[in-house]
Amino acid sequence: KAAKVGFIGLGNMGGHMAKNLLKKGYPLVVYDVSKDNLNTLKEAGAEVAGSPAEVASGVTKVVSMLPESSHVKQVTVKSGSLLMDCSTIDPSVSQVMASLAAEKGVTFVDAPVSGGVNAARDGILTFMVGGPEDGYEAASEYLSCMGKNVVHCGAVGTGQAAKICNNMLLGISMIGVSETMNLGIKLGLDPKMLAKILNMSSGRCWSSEVYNPCPGVLDGVPSSNNYKGGFGAALMTKDLGLAQSASTSTKSPTPLGSMAHQMYRIMTNHGYGEKDFSSVFKFLQEQEGK
Ligand code: NAD
Repeated sequence: KAAKVGFIGLGNMGGHMAKNLLKKGYPLVVYDVSKDNLNTLKEAGAEVAGSPAEVASGVTKVVSMLPESSHVKQVTVKSGSLLMDCSTIDPSVSQVMASLAAEKGVTFVDAPVSGGVNAARDGILTFMVGGPEDGYEAASEYLSCMGKNVVHCGAVGTGQAAKICNNMLLGISMIGVSETMNLGIKLGLDPKMLAKILNMSSGRCWSSEVYNPCPGVLDGVPSSNNYKGGFGAALMTKDLGLAQSASTSTKSPTPLGSMAHQMYRIMTNHGYGEKDFSSVFKFLQEQEGK
């Protein structure tokens, strides 16, 4: 029988990921500050704990999927454990976590993910793993239950580095697709037809093809569900902020990354924080002059 795994953070992503571990036969003990999210996992067969410490007391493998660095810093596990942090946080925080963990005989790997909520549900995420080779190998057993690609990027923190680079590009491309769709509609083009043209042309990208921000173009994506679920604009703002810190510390010019950061910041400040980030399409529509 597989050993019990701890799982902390059962939101849009973590909820699906935890269910996939259960489906693969791993008994789970879970924690989240949200009672609703805990109940969903309880119904799926997980054991519920009253605190992160209670999770850690009964297991030696823990997965965390929390919003930000500050939440991840609160996670502790017992000596000899493997901690797999799948949240998107500052690479330097992952490095500090890893060295504190090492002092306690704990192996820490950063393993942020890409693919969105549907890929989390379908167990086909991409994991970008930073950590020692043996940590990567040990983590692969669990991560491969939740994803189809588990890539070792290098030392601890490099998974986060890959992730924030990806999300900087995603944040930019979603704005680009949104302003393009909006302009095309203004010019009298049918949105579905415009998306079809883009997706057979050189403007094609994930934001146009898999996650189109214009309502009604695709089924089963947040834009066709009033931008509910998915990846919140506040979380995208956080990721672009991480990319901007990294670009500052490495003196890398990222003018579009900086502009994208400010766009999602403004959206978040205007009540879009909980909506999926593709709602930038709706936000642009609302900015139009008469
Ligand atoms: P979410 O806000 O839906 O879920 C976070 C969960 O953590 C919530 O259930 C919340 O109640 C819980 N939580 C908050 N503080 C806690 C604490 N102190 N202890 C225990 N639980 C706590 O977020 P999400 O969309 O699932 O994203 C989680 C992480 O994954 C973020 O770092 C995000 O940037 C990243 N990510 C998200 C997506 C996506 O498409 N949603 C994709 C890739 C990566």
